[in-house]
Amino acid sequence: MKAVQFTDHGGRDVIEYGEFPDPEPDRDEVLVDVKAGALNHLDVWTRRGLPGIDLDMPHVPGSDGAGEVVAVGEDVTRFEPGDRVALSAGVSCGECEYCRHGEHSMCVDFHLIGEHVRGVHSELAAVPADNLLEVPEGVDWETAAAAPLVFQTAWRMLVSRGDVTPGEDVLVLGASGGVGHAAVQIADHAGATVYATGSSEEKLEHARDLGADHVVDYESEDFADRVRELTGKRGVDVVVDHVGAATWRDSLKSLAKGGRLLTCGATTGPNPETDINRIFWNQLQVIGSTMASHGEADDALELVWDGTFEPAIREVLPMSETARAHELLEEREGFGKVVVKPDSEL
Ligand SMILES: [Zn+2]
Repeated sequence: MKAVQFTDHGGRDVIEYGEFPDPEPDRDEVLVDVKAGALNHLDVWTRRGLPGIDLDMPHVPGSDGAGEVVAVGEDVTRFEPGDRVALSAGVSCGECEYCRHGEHSMCVDFHLIGEHVRGVHSELAAVPADNLLEVPEGVDWETAAAAPLVFQTAWRMLVSRGDVTPGEDVLVLGASGGVGHAAVQIADHAGATVYATGSSEEKLEHARDLGADHVVDYESEDFADRVRELTGKRGVDVVVDHVGAATWRDSLKSLAKGGRLLTCGATTGPNPETDINRIFWNQLQVIGSTMASHGEADDALELVWDGTFEPAIREVLPMSETARAHELLEEREGFGKVVVKPDSEL
C-alpha cells in the first residue's frame, strides 16, 4: 500500500508518500480502507520531533481518518466488513483508576494514534476497535475524517471541564483553527455569548457564520482591551486558549473575576510569561483539558453526524501533497480543517 511517512524528524521536506507494508489487524483490531484523513497541529509537532517520544521509523502520521472496514480481528464484535467508521485517536489502557472512572483521556498510559504510534494517513490502517466511531450513511468522508479530534477535544474542554452554561460570555482565540472553530460552534450551542478572534476579515466573517456574536481582529487591535470594552469592562467568563505563549497574558487579562481559562494546546509555545497576581486577586481558574472519554467523543460526534456542528474544510489535498498541508497549518492559511485523501481516491 501507499502511506505518508517520514524516516527522520525535520522540516516539511522529510515527508514522503510511498510504499509501506500492508498492515495486519491484531485480534482486537480492525483493518480500514482509508477514504480520507485530516491534519491537526500535532502532526506538525510530531514531524518536527517531540521530546520524550521515540517513534518507530519510518513513522506513518495521521490522528484523524475515516473509511470502510475491510476485515476484523477475531475478538472484534462491534464491526464487520463494509461498516463506515472514523478514528478517535486516544488510546487508553481500560484498567487504571482513571479508565475505571471513565476518564479515558486521563489514563496513565494515554497516547495518540499518529503521535505516539503509527497513524492512519495511508491507504490501509489497522486500528483497535475501541478507537473507531460508527459513521452514518449520508455523512461524507471529508466530514467524517475532519471532525473527531477537534470536536471531541473542544467538547470535553467546554462542556465537561469548562462547564459552560447559557448566558455566559466565552472568548475563543484563533477561531479559524480546528479546535477554535469547533469551540465557537459548541459554545454557541451551549447558549453562551461567543467572542471570537481571528486575523482577517474573511476568517472573522466565517466565525460569525458558525455562531460568534462578536469578532475581534487580533492583528489590528489588542484583543484583551477590545473584549473588556465589549463587556463593559467586566471581562468574559471563559477564555479558550489553544495558542499558548503568544496570548496567555492577554487571555488572563480578558477574564472577569472568577473566570476560567481553558487550555488544550500551545501552538506558539508552552512557556508564557504569566501573571500570578491577576490569577489570585481575580480568583481565576486555569483548567487543562485533552481529547475526551469514549462517551464524550460519542456525544460530540453525534452532533456532527446530525448536522448540528459542521467541520469547515479549508482544502482537500492528495496524500502525496501532505507537505503542503503542513504549510497551510504552519502559515495559518485558511479556515478550518485540511483534509488529505489517498491519491488513488482522487
Ligand atoms: Zn487507563
